[in-house]
Amino acid sequence: MPDKKTKKQVMFLDFDNTITNFDILDDMLERFSANDEWIKLEDKWKNGEIGSRQCLDGQMRGIKITRNRLNKYLKTIKLDPNFKKLLKFCDANDIKKIILSDNFGYILKGILKNNGIDGLDVYCNSLKITKDSLEPSFPYTDMKCGSCAHCKTKNLLANTPSGYESIYIGDGLSDVCPSKEADLVFAKSALMKNLKADKVPYVSFDDLGDVYEYLKRRKA
Ligand SMILES: [Mg+2]
Repeated sequence: MPDKKTKKQVMFLDFDNTITNFDILDDMLERFSANDEWIKLEDKWKNGEIGSRQCLDGQMRGIKITRNRLNKYLKTIKLDPNFKKLLKFCDANDIKKIILSDNFGYILKGILKNNGIDGLDVYCNSLKITKDSLEPSFPYTDMKCGSCAHCKTKNLLANTPSGYESIYIGDGLSDVCPSKEADLVFAKSALMKNLKADKVPYVSFDDLGDVYEYLKRRKA
């Protein structure tokens, strides 16, 4: 059992529907896809016919949006109002914080910047914008496994120094695998259902205010 009062900690956060209140990519697909191909890809992924990398690659290429329009859209997106409070708590308690996301750098970092947050460590997919087309790339795929576009587990393990307690906060299917490697997991939605089914311990949360309160109580 780690000594929770003195042990150093590193916190990993998913982005969509964890730091934000909804899934940005799902919303973008509905708003900006040129046709319904993205729904077919989504069904194939859900049925296990393709991995999330192939799904996301096809879906992003099916979006038609200019940089200006995308920037305008990104300006409308707000974060969980408790996120800044949680970051301050981490700083005050010397907890490292890292975002692990299946979203894309341009989108994710743009949203953070628009909400006044800078300088966080982020691991995510990449996006190139040309005229009205998006070209995704996936620097963190585990080609041997292939089930996720971004292998969050690899980045969690690589960024947890020995002797540190790892904390994971997430909601989705790409969070299941890394959660099983973390020491303390905060889960909701699909992640929670999967961990429950696999009998992996977790703390349920609705928003980051719950995570903040839990960690504060634990430190006291
Ligand atoms: Mg998510």
